[in-house]
Amino acid sequence: MEGNHEAIVSAETFDLVQEQMAARKPGNNRYSGVHVFSGMVYCGDCGSRYGSKVWHANDKYRKIIWQCNRKYAGTICRSPHLTDPQIEDIVMRAMSRLSDERDAIIRTAVMLRDTIYDTSALCAEQECVERELADATDQLTQAVLRNANVALDQAEHQQEMTALSARYQELQDRNTALKVAIIDKDNRRKRTDSFIRELRSLPQHAEKFDPVAFRILVERITVYDDKRAVVRFNDGTEIEA
Ligand SMILES: [Zn+2]
Repeated sequence: MEGNHEAIVSAETFDLVQEQMAARKPGNNRYSGVHVFSGMVYCGDCGSRYGSKVWHANDKYRKIIWQCNRKYAGTICRSPHLTDPQIEDIVMRAMSRLSDERDAIIRTAVMLRDTIYDTSALCAEQECVERELADATDQLTQAVLRNANVALDQAEHQQEMTALSARYQELQDRNTALKVAIIDKDNRRKRTDSFIRELRSLPQHAEKFDPVAFRILVERITVYDDKRAVVRFNDGTEIEA
């Protein structure tokens, strides 16, 4: 369990570093080694992700399109296929509207970051549990030592050991749950913090699609049958574009 937490933390840190270090090259639609739209576009009909397909792979009309992954898996989704420039267009329109309301959105995001995603109460509780765990470990050790040095009633000793072990396990579980909750909140706080910084520096009328801004600001795009798309941003704001 311990190792897992560390893996989650370092993956998140890695992501943040990637965000901060990523070169903002126009026309380079890759992000952390994958296409910037990979895993970000969803079908409004069935909820599946959009995947990329290559059309005309072997001739001069070669192009990449995005469509519902379940399109040919028995379901008939009416959500349209989209090209990179069409998705970029949707994002640019939504970002421009986000930017129009940035002051209010930033105020709300700052409030979220500093209240709901604040981990200080959880951290204080986890410190308490850690101390209780240390006590429980001591009590277990003492009981084992007593049994080795003094002739105790073995039934009573067994009963005591069972109770102490149960208490220890309960604290251990609580400690793990708290650690997971702290990591989760911390990740949300970091994400919201990146969102706020990115939105502050977003140009009012951007002329080029910025893949880094896209990955920091946007949670997902949902595409509907009438070419209507809804962009959900990382603060929860949804904009139809
Ligand atoms: Zn679908």
